Amino acid sequence: MHFTRLRLSGFKSFVDATDLVIEPGMTGIVGPNGCGKSNLVEALRWVMGETSAKRMRGDDMDDVIFGGTANRPARNLGEVALLIDNRTRTAPAGFNEHDELEVTRRIERGNGSDYRINGKLVRARDVQLLFADNASGAGSPALVSQGKVGQIINAKPQDRRMLLEEAAGITGLHSRRHEAELR
Ligand code: ATP
Ligand code: MG
Repeated sequence: MHFTRLRLSGFKSFVDATDLVIEPGMTGIVGPNGCGKSNLVEALRWVMGETSAKRMRGDDMDDVIFGGTANRPARNLGEVALLIDNRTRTAPAGFNEHDELEVTRRIERGNGSDYRINGKLVRARDVQLLFADNASGAGSPALVSQGKVGQIINAKPQDRRMLLEEAAGITGLHSRRHEAELR
């Protein structure tokens, strides 16, 4: 499963529709302070199911919507789409017949957000599991933020085990077992 494109519109500082092609290999994002590098990484985390406004550097999840500048009015809609090459067929059942997956999350001011996979409305949980099963996702060690390295070193053994399980791509199994036990 490879990310091939990231599309943003009305998300944080990316007010206009922006389409980024993610080529195979390593991608670097460079630019002056405040140009939106971290916002791009946050867009990735958000579309994979981030639920914490604080981890998105906001007070409220609506803060991810373009909030306006001196010469441009605020928006009421924000959207991020992540395109995934699924020719290796590692997506969960129900989505795995597609060569390409498009995961979309859209937020409307005051109205929360919804998720779609290839246009079909799905639960946040479906999107979170899709990435958890592929050793990725909003909370995964694939995204290393500032201070995270120190946090891992100082983590309790049980928390460190969770990180290793996430890296191995088996956290999805745990959440499914937990869900099954609750039923
Ligand atoms: P640095 O090099 O300092 O880490 P950066 O390239 O990572 O900078 P970001 O933190 O991604 O920059 O972008 C910060 C900019 O995004 C700020 O100018 C901030 O005002 C703008 N921004 C963040 N959220 C919004 C929003 N909801 N609406 C409009 N602009 C926003
Ligand atoms: Mg930054």
